[in-house]
Amino acid sequence: MRDYILRGTDKLKNFRFFGVNTTHIANIAREYHDTTPVVSAALGRLLSGASMMGAMLKNDTDRVSISIRGDGPIKGLIAEADAFGNVKGYAYEPHVDIPLNAYGKLDVSGAIGNAAMTVMKDIGLKEPYTGQIAMPSGEIAEDLTYYFATSEQTNSVVILGVLVDVDYSIKHSGGIIIQVLPDAKDEAISRLEDKISTFISLTAYLEEGKTIEEIIQVLLEDIDIAEKREIEFKCDCSKERMERALITLGKDDLEEIASDEQTELVCHFCNSKYMFSQTEIKDLIQKVL
Ligand code: ZN
Repeated sequence: MRDYILRGTDKLKNFRFFGVNTTHIANIAREYHDTTPVVSAALGRLLSGASMMGAMLKNDTDRVSISIRGDGPIKGLIAEADAFGNVKGYAYEPHVDIPLNAYGKLDVSGAIGNAAMTVMKDIGLKEPYTGQIAMPSGEIAEDLTYYFATSEQTNSVVILGVLVDVDYSIKHSGGIIIQVLPDAKDEAISRLEDKISTFISLTAYLEEGKTIEEIIQVLLEDIDIAEKREIEFKCDCSKERMERALITLGKDDLEEIASDEQTELVCHFCNSKYMFSQTEIKDLIQKVL
């Protein structure tokens, strides 16, 4: 299994957890978008977070998206996941290059800047559920922790990590979310807090050769894994979806586009190209009317 997601609880049911290894997904994202290391790190973290939040959805057709808009050089990032944990995502500015931070690490929060994070869940209702926070940290994991606490009233530990190799490929990418269950014992919570305080980093453990489940065991000791499945970078774009996007542009814009013999649309997520002929665009104008 290349990339995977797993979920479960500790044996005493104080916590539920989600874990992902997204190394291949992060490499695919880097190839699609030609991201520089700091953007690879930001996007990899967001993809891991979105994947796990996708797995929290109840129905197979539900979807979640996390979008970040900031005043830093990346400007924004978006990741979308299905209920199986498959994800897609991109950064507005993939070629950002800024100095390492004071700890000698890729400066994700510096690249994102002051930002807002919007979580949108399409759970089959007329209007999607939307939650928005001002990002307190910009490192993404802390921001998701804050999002869960304020928007979903759930105490969580969110750990995300991306290790970029010397050749700029992604050596490791993954994440863990641990959430406190309603009947959790106080002593179990303080034991987890102790473990978190001595936890070095996800990628340090991955670098040691530990799997995601073994790293969860470091934090929760005895665990029951309820489900483990393969996940991938999966884009659901299609010519039909592109048509729908074109129709939303409205008649005036479409008439302008129709002056070209051919129009090429590129999917932001996966770079797939869709060609529309003049006749096809003119047919779409009829659908607007
Ligand atoms: Zn696509």
